[in-house]
Amino acid sequence: MRFEIFIMYDVIIIGSGPAGLTAAIYTTRANLKTLLIAGGKWGGQLMLTTLVENYPGFPEGIQGPDLMMAMRKQAEKFGAEIINSDFVSGDFSKSPFKITAGDKTYEGKSMIISTGADPKWLDIPGEKEKIGRGISSCAPCDAFFFKGKNVIVVGGGDSAMEEALVLTNFANSVTMIHRKDSLRASQILQDRAKKNPKIKFLFNTEATKILGDKKITGVELKNNKTNEFSKIDIDGVFVAIGHIPNTKIFKGIELDEKGYVKVRDHTKTNIEGVFVAGDVHDSHYRQAVTAAGYGCAAALESEKWLRKTTT
Ligand code: NAP
Repeated sequence: MRFEIFIMYDVIIIGSGPAGLTAAIYTTRANLKTLLIAGGKWGGQLMLTTLVENYPGFPEGIQGPDLMMAMRKQAEKFGAEIINSDFVSGDFSKSPFKITAGDKTYEGKSMIISTGADPKWLDIPGEKEKIGRGISSCAPCDAFFFKGKNVIVVGGGDSAMEEALVLTNFANSVTMIHRKDSLRASQILQDRAKKNPKIKFLFNTEATKILGDKKITGVELKNNKTNEFSKIDIDGVFVAIGHIPNTKIFKGIELDEKGYVKVRDHTKTNIEGVFVAGDVHDSHYRQAVTAAGYGCAAALESEKWLRKTTT
């Protein structure tokens, strides 16, 4: 049974990655009553990483989960209420917005959407059941398990190059599988990958089937120029073909052609009082520090908007 409990907040933030938690730090320090709907699996993608070396302020690096725990503590210290329930539905037609999470309903005068994006998978036979058991989307998290092994990386963008480069620290060989004949990645990362003796490239090639029962033994490949099939013996697959923004759950919020929240004037959505921050609208940078920056900006804008509409 769903309880209809209406508690009014100045700001409700949905999503608990660097964007959402930074937004909460700013809104609570601005004395705004803040609820953060963190989700059952809170913390976002950094909870799945190990050492984060490019978040400023940590010269020796910091473990992803430790960074997220510190951000959460910081938001809670200033009074953010954080619930580990999943967002269920929301009425975004006008402020105050009605949000249901878990079995409760909350009202917010303003909203910040910061639900991030999830990795895209290949959707080929044998893949689903081996995600986390030989198939990964996160080399910094899982490369260690492929010490001395042979792996493939699928994709031709910056993420694929980075994944491959990380993997060379552990794996014996890294084969890049890309469906086109040229890479999309930035020149500097392409050059680095091409110069690495452990990395080789197969162009115009698609992974069509993951082979092996309990563990991966290989991948079936298709050359999309010749339509010929072949098999490569490998131990692991890293999929780096982009991300899917977590936006399907939001009714009435305008999205762009790739499904990301369509942003206007830096932090605004098509609905007055609903702001957006982080990977859920940013398919370009996708860094923890940029997401945190967007969270800060959205919080400052929601504060300004609340001041304007309530005075
Ligand atoms: P991306 O740039 O969208 O590249 C995705 C790659 O996967 C493309 O090469 C694409 O092929 C391929 N692909 C997509 N769907 C596929 C499918 N179903 N099967 C096979 N291949 C598929 O994604 P990204 O590499 O994750 O990068 C996203 C953004 O983050 C980019 O703006 C990137 O510059 C940025 N980024 C930057 C850094 C950095 O600067 N250090 C690191 C990581 C990411 P096509 O080329 O054929 O479309």
